Amino acid sequence: MNLPQLDAWLRLAADRLHDQARALTQLDQAIGDGDHGINMDRGFTAIVAMLDRHAAASDGASSGQAVGALLREAGQTLIRTVGGASGPLYGTAFLRAAAVYAHAEKPSIADTVSAMRAATDGIGALGRATTGEKTMLDALVPAVTAAQAALEAGKDDPAVLGAARDAAEAGAQATIPMLATKGRASYLGERSIGHQDPGATSAALLVGALADVIARG
Ligand code: ADP
Ligand code: MG
Repeated sequence: MNLPQLDAWLRLAADRLHDQARALTQLDQAIGDGDHGINMDRGFTAIVAMLDRHAAASDGASSGQAVGALLREAGQTLIRTVGGASGPLYGTAFLRAAAVYAHAEKPSIADTVSAMRAATDGIGALGRATTGEKTMLDALVPAVTAAQAALEAGKDDPAVLGAARDAAEAGAQATIPMLATKGRASYLGERSIGHQDPGATSAALLVGALADVIARG
């Protein structure tokens, strides 16, 4: 991922999160406190404002360092503005991804998959969670596994991210019958069953937006 692709991804994600804010909030009303859509919309609106401030200063540099620096600033913005459980979790994910890019001279699709893995591991570590607990990890872990498999099979960049998108969507849907054991939804116990997890849904949205940007080339 280069700098224009990162910029395009964050803006597309912001647009879609804004459009989906109501739907995400409805999911969170069912098993949480009904703020997930508002939280994510607020955070990505702040990211777009940050991107707009940077646009004038951008020199088109696409080194891993430049991508990493912008991802880090996006992560810090999420930590500062999203709130709830998802703010620190997504923020940490972005910071972990940023660290991967910072070490990539000329970032390739393999670095993107490594960054997705680091981001997902960061969420697991901070949230002390794993798959099957009805969280964003249920979308992200299968996405990373699918992307890695496509990469190893020699697929091109859009196919690698396409595999990640499909796995993330399936993973988010697979949270419906799960019993929540982490976060607010866990307070509901058995009543958390039968609803799709809002964080898994927003995670699938983020992966889907990335796939669409990479497919544009
Ligand atoms: P809050 O639950 O504090 O209101 P949000 O509504 O913004 O925060 O986010 C809720 C989402 O955060 C959940 O749907 C779930 O996917 C995710 N989440 C909550 N706790 C954890 C955790 N410990 N590990 C991973 N993800 C979590
Ligand atoms: Mg909530």
